[in-house]
This record gives sequence, structure tokens and C-alpha cells, in this order.
Amino acid sequence: IPSLRGVKLIRTFGDGTARRAALQEVSMDLFPGQLVLLMGPSGSGKSTLLAILSGLLEPDSGQVLADDDGVLRDVWQMTGKEREQYRRKHTGFIFQGYNLFPALTARQQLEIVLKWGEGTGPGDARRRADEMLDKLGLAKNKHKKPAQLSGGEKQRVAIGRALVKNPSFMFADEPTSALDWENGQKVIELLRDAAHQNGASVLCVSHDHRILPFVDVYYHLDDGHLERRTLPHE
Ligand code: ADP
Ligand code: ADP
Repeated sequence: IPSLRGVKLIRTFGDGTARRAALQEVSMDLFPGQLVLLMGPSGSGKSTLLAILSGLLEPDSGQVLADDDGVLRDVWQMTGKEREQYRRKHTGFIFQGYNLFPALTARQQLEIVLKWGEGTGPGDARRRADEMLDKLGLAKNKHKKPAQLSGGEKQRVAIGRALVKNPSFMFADEPTSALDWENGQKVIELLRDAAHQNGASVLCVSHDHRILPFVDVYYHLDDGHLERRTLPHE
């Protein structure tokens, strides 16, 4: 049973003659425990699809049905407040440019997500943040701010921030693009663990073909049309 279903999603940008479809009736099912890769040329609609499925961007038409504590709900029929609650509780998003708070230490970046998102108390938030940083190999960096961290370390903090809540749905937009392959591979292994060990549905946008052996499902998007492709190991 899918945990998240995108059904016949259409999204256009622009007006009049400049109007262009970024997504043309795209349907995609995500299942618990799977790491799904989305590839496609620049401008094919990957970021648009990620934003719609994660509840950040409204489609022109179509549905995003998500398992919200056992009930399938259309994310885009929720009120803004409900959607915000759903997103905080169930989704994690890893942005291309890390999006870390410059003034906060690695530990604080994770603590704040737990305090704001779930109302976790300070002691618990610190304990869970430290556990996650340990797991990411960042224990010795927990008091460092983003400017003191390498690219690989910043990306791992960004992943920790998305993972610390144990979300049902994880979305990652080119999480390895700024990294060398050694760090890129670590990042993909963390996303795979989130799926295989924690049962999350993970959707990852990437151009990097080295990721293919790590994923469970592979989709290709071309000019707003989605196609499922067979993996070499399938
Ligand atoms: P990708 O992530 O695959 O590079 P995008 O989803 O960013 O593709 O973009 C798909 C198409 O939609 C492109 O033609 C892009 O120019 C257009 N597009 C995306 N976002 C906007 C926007 N906010 N305003 C206008 N056009 C946009
Ligand atoms: P990784 O390979 O994990 O990305 P590096 O070997 O690049 O790590 O960096 C090792 C150490 O050097 C890190 O702990 C980090 O604090 C520091 N460092 C690396 N790059 C930068 C940078 N651009 N700015 C500040 N500190 C950095």
C-alpha cells in the first residue's frame, strides 16, 4: 500500500503565450521503506514535483494523497494550518543549498526542529540531537556553526535535521551535488537507512548515476512526463 500518492498532477507556470506546463499529468506512488530516485534533464520539472508532493507548492490540478496517521488525506485539500502541521509532523526536506541557520551550532540546528516541530522538551531535544549527530559521525562538530564545517559536514547536518524527527516522508533535492563521491556515498547510505531501517518513503532528485545501485526504484522525468525505468539490479 503506497504511503504517498501523487495522482495526475498538472502544474503550469507563466501567463498567456508564455504559459508552460512544468508537469503534465504526472502520477507517482511512494511506498514505505523505499528509496526512490528521480532523474531528468535540467528544467524537466523535478523540483516542481518534489515541491508539490512535499506540500510546498500547489498543483493546478491532481491530488497528493498522504497517509496521515492511518488516514489517506489530500494534502492540497487541507487548510493551510493543517498542511503546516502535517508537514512538520510527517515530512523532512533536504534542500540543495543546505539551508542551515548561520548563527546556530550543529546541535542547535537539530534541537530547534524538535522544539518547534514537536514541542519536544529541552532535555529530550538535546539527547535526540546528540544521538543523531553521533550516528552521522558529527559528534566532534556539534558545537560548530555552518561556517566552521566542510561541505560534507554541512550536508550531513542538513540530513540530520530532516531525519531527527523520524519523518514518514523524506524529500531530497540533489543532496550530493556539492560533495565528492566519498561524502556523496555517505549521504546516500543515510537516505537508504532512513528507508530500509526506519521505514520512511524517501524521494531523491539527482543527476548522479553512481547513486543507481543504492536505490529501490528509479523514475525519469522528461519535459513534464514521468516514466518508470528498470534498474540494472532489478
Ligand atoms: P528541474 O528541477 O527538473 O530543473 P523545475 O521543476 O525547476 O525543473 O522547472 C520545470 C519548468 O518549470 C522549467 O521550464 C522552469 O523554467 C519552470 N519553472 C519552475 N519554477 C518556476 C517559477 N517559479 N516560475 C516560472 N517558471 C518556473
Ligand atoms: P569532509 O571531507 O568531511 O567534507 P574536510 O576534510 O573537507 O571534511 O574538512 C575537515 C575539517 O576542516 C572539518 O572538520 C572542517 O571543520 C574544516 N573545514 C573544511 N572545509 C572548511 C571550510 N570551507 N570552511 C571552514 N572549515 C572547513
